[in-house]
Amino acid sequence: MQVLIENLVKLQSVDLERARLGQAARSLPAEISQAEAALAAAQRQAAEVSDALNREETLRTRLEREIAGHRQKVARFSAQQDSVKTPAQAEAIEHEVHFAQQEIDRIENEEFASLERSETQEAALAAARAQVEELAAALDKTRERVALRQQELAAEQATLQVEHEALRQLIDPEWLARYDRLSASRGTGLARAENQQCTGCRMGVRPQTWNQLREGELLTCDSCSRLLYWDSAMAPVPKSPQPEPAAGAGRAIRKHQRA
Ligand SMILES: [Zn+2]
Repeated sequence: MQVLIENLVKLQSVDLERARLGQAARSLPAEISQAEAALAAAQRQAAEVSDALNREETLRTRLEREIAGHRQKVARFSAQQDSVKTPAQAEAIEHEVHFAQQEIDRIENEEFASLERSETQEAALAAARAQVEELAAALDKTRERVALRQQELAAEQATLQVEHEALRQLIDPEWLARYDRLSASRGTGLARAENQQCTGCRMGVRPQTWNQLREGELLTCDSCSRLLYWDSAMAPVPKSPQPEPAAGAGRAIRKHQRA
């Protein structure tokens, strides 16, 4: 019985570790997609700033064209000033020149404002591109790390698989079937009894069962049906004789058992 219990305990420990490694392996791709998402967001940000910069440049090209048009008008009107016949004509031309110059001033101010915006955007673009580079490097690192960890996990899992197979060879098929059924439905098939409790479901075990367990039997928990065993190595070490009155020690043991 003791060998059976030991093998079942080992099998469950191997199987729990296999499950843990499997879960760790399944969570790895999420690390890559997280790093990918961060990079994509930074790339989008850089593209948006770059678009804004292009729009400002297009705007300034248009403004330059408008300024050139107004300057041509000023030149044309200035040429006409030499051939004016009446004061009214002169006044009209002066008015047109004045208006064109006002427009040039206005558009130049607009252009200056655009240049200022571009300066801010260029700084933002440089920062965004630096971040893209940083996150691209981080993604590469994450991929490397994940690939390495996947290899490690695969190796560990292969070792555990061998142990798993070997242990199953040592266990009676009937016990194995019960263990498998319980493992599938409850996550674990085996539970240690401790302080007259099943550690799988925390329910108490009957005194008769507890005594049988302490004699090394493999039983079933009335509450959760897990295979129940007692591990003498895990039991509290009996206290060495103390100068305390015997009655006190007896009370302590009773209290402990009731827990
Ligand atoms: Zn139980």
